[in-house]
Amino acid sequence: MQHSIETSAHGENTPVDRPSLSTIAIHAGERRGLYRDLMAPVSSTSTWTFPDSQAVIDHAKKVSPVDEYARYGNLNERIVAEKLAALEGAEECLMFDSGMGALSALLLGTLRAGDEVVISDESYHRIRSFCSEHLTRFGIASIEVPTGDYEALEAAITPRTKLLISESPTNPHLTVIDLQQFVAVARRHGIETLIDATLATPYNVQPIRAGVDYVLHSATKYLGGHNNLMAGSLAGTREKLTRIRTWRDFTGGVCTPDAASKLNTGLMTFPMRMQQHNCNGQLVAQFLERDPRVERVYYPGLDSHPTHAVARQTMSGFGGLVTFLVKEADCAATQRVVDACQLAEIAASLGGVHTMIQQPRILNHYHKTPEECARINIPDNMIRLSCGLENVSDIIADLDRALGAQ
Ligand SMILES: *Cc1c(COP(=O)(O)O)cnc(C)c1O
Repeated sequence: MQHSIETSAHGENTPVDRPSLSTIAIHAGERRGLYRDLMAPVSSTSTWTFPDSQAVIDHAKKVSPVDEYARYGNLNERIVAEKLAALEGAEECLMFDSGMGALSALLLGTLRAGDEVVISDESYHRIRSFCSEHLTRFGIASIEVPTGDYEALEAAITPRTKLLISESPTNPHLTVIDLQQFVAVARRHGIETLIDATLATPYNVQPIRAGVDYVLHSATKYLGGHNNLMAGSLAGTREKLTRIRTWRDFTGGVCTPDAASKLNTGLMTFPMRMQQHNCNGQLVAQFLERDPRVERVYYPGLDSHPTHAVARQTMSGFGGLVTFLVKEADCAATQRVVDACQLAEIAASLGGVHTMIQQPRILNHYHKTPEECARINIPDNMIRLSCGLENVSDIIADLDRALGAQ
């Protein structure tokens, strides 16, 4: 078996506009400042000055608006906002200090008491908890439906429903949403849609082009790509994002200049990185699926994945996340496999250049009962691997050795 980019199943699957993503990633949003820096300097001011009172009046009248105060934004976050909007095919993008910051601004900035949201049950656990534990305090109900069940989704809609929320692909089961069906359900009822596309990134799917209203990213993951920053983004139309921008102006939470500057550097290589994450993910998933010590592999690029057909239709690559079950292993045996890895680091995050591994039963769901874990399909022998950008033969060799250590 050859572990090279040429063996990737979907090199040819590349949509026509894909090459320009690399150019957009480097050039969109960039500006040459006063000193014509190639990379924008990191803004380090909390406020800006006006040359005279007329400039204040011109700013107030929006004749020539300028930067005023850093809670409203900064040069570095605006560069990445424009870049991400261009990568998403969105009219506009807002940057936040984290993915959860973006999500909470959307929900709290647009919903009111009496509204309802419907959320798919495999969405990011903190988003589901935010809806069930916090939105409810403000009189906003949240209803969970099985991920990818479009009849259940439609059945959960009431005249009070304002927003349908789903992640795609989901974590750790990597279920891919049929965006066409998801959007069709929402449109029939005049409801807005939010897709958390953190795992896919705009390299693999562009939900705005499928008619989704809001696209959320934890830019902390693949977009930044080096595990050295926290940021979040929300893409959509200017009109829809205005309310959320206003909310952010009040509550704070804009992406800091330091994080935005690092994110900008990360974004410049993001299409190339993503191509290699896709390739490594596919090859690692194929290795695991063939290995007799593995019970099951979840990877949307494998024929065996329940949503493989949807993934092939809607995505141009399947990412670097691979989830698998160790055959006949209990919790302790699974821990031994994880502990035996030398290259893969045990860590909660995903999407960076380093390969990272974790056992969801103990890292995300330690305090749940076995029954609760069974209900959300998180068995003791499940391992989630975030394939980094090391040579894929080394990632595979690490797993091969670790699987022998049970
Ligand atoms: C990490 C993550 C989030 C939350 O983003 P933060 O940047 O950690 O706030 C949301 N959705 C998904 C799918 C994530 O992986």
